[in-house]
Amino acid sequence: MPLDALPPLARSWVRAALDPAVVPTERRADCSACPMVDDAETAFLRDVRCCTYEPVLANFQVGAFFRDADPALEPGRRRLAARIRARSGVTPLGIDRPPEYPLWRAADEGNFGRDAELACGYLDASDDARRCTVHRARNAVCATWFCKHERAAIGGRFWLAVRAYLSAIESALAHHCLHALAIDDTALLALTVEQDRPFQEPTPALYAALWGDRRFHEQRFFAACHELVEALPAAEVLALGGPAVERHRRALRAAAAALSDEHVPERVRLGSDVDESRRGDLVALRTYRESDAVVVPVAELEAIAGCDGRSGDEAERALGRRQLRVLLDHEVLVPG
Ligand code: SF4
Ligand code: SF4
Repeated sequence: MPLDALPPLARSWVRAALDPAVVPTERRADCSACPMVDDAETAFLRDVRCCTYEPVLANFQVGAFFRDADPALEPGRRRLAARIRARSGVTPLGIDRPPEYPLWRAADEGNFGRDAELACGYLDASDDARRCTVHRARNAVCATWFCKHERAAIGGRFWLAVRAYLSAIESALAHHCLHALAIDDTALLALTVEQDRPFQEPTPALYAALWGDRRFHEQRFFAACHELVEALPAAEVLALGGPAVERHRRALRAAAAALSDEHVPERVRLGSDVDESRRGDLVALRTYRESDAVVVPVAELEAIAGCDGRSGDEAERALGRRQLRVLLDHEVLVPG
């Protein structure tokens, strides 16, 4: 089932928003034979691939590793325990990026997949079968990112909507844990101060204020957060999320409806943002995402360009229904 690819808690939250049957299996993003590792100019680094990102993990996601003695979780548990010992970015809300992570380099899209210094701290590139050591409770960004989508840009928007919905839930539940587990006002003030000083180590006094009596028992606190969140029925999760989660749930339903719409538009025109790169007799057309190009023979470019301003039926006759669908999904051709 496509939903099985999501972390266990996220599955029930997605099921609460839509019919799970609409969730696509992104077969083109086959991580066991990563298509982004080749000799093309745009290839990703073999070891790092798309893990040039450092996630923020919510308290209950961290807690999944300290509640369960499953040996399969040990690599993640070890890394998270090391982060807790180091204290930087460790608050009752969860574990943020370490201050030394070069976020400014990560913000440059050209470095994505290509800058080894951006490798995630939870990545174990030596274990091909279990590269992500926090896979069981990875965050919404990691759980919903695919380099390619079956429905290209339409699929990309669907997963973006899943990500926004799950991120809103993660934030709401992380805050719910603070209140349900009685984090006191002094610690909440320390949290406000800590969030106003990004990329800095916490001073010993600030860390002590953040954690109070729970200092040195952070793992136990995170485990309690996971226990609390795991016990919440999905309907209660949606209620706790309030208008922010509701907004994203509705957007997600719209994105899901677009996934099942395959009609040929009355008229088509060329997309406005198509980047071309040629290799021999082939040309890669990139639109919504650099890693998801449509590759066509150079000879086909003329037929594609000839569809600009034509009716959908004429475009279908010129290109064939399947190829027209691919070009529409990639937004090389758009309804016009
Ligand atoms: S999602 Fe990442 S690891 Fe998986 S196939 Fe795409 S680039 Fe490779
Ligand atoms: S948390 Fe896992 S999936 Fe996300 S970037 Fe790190 S290693 Fe990759």
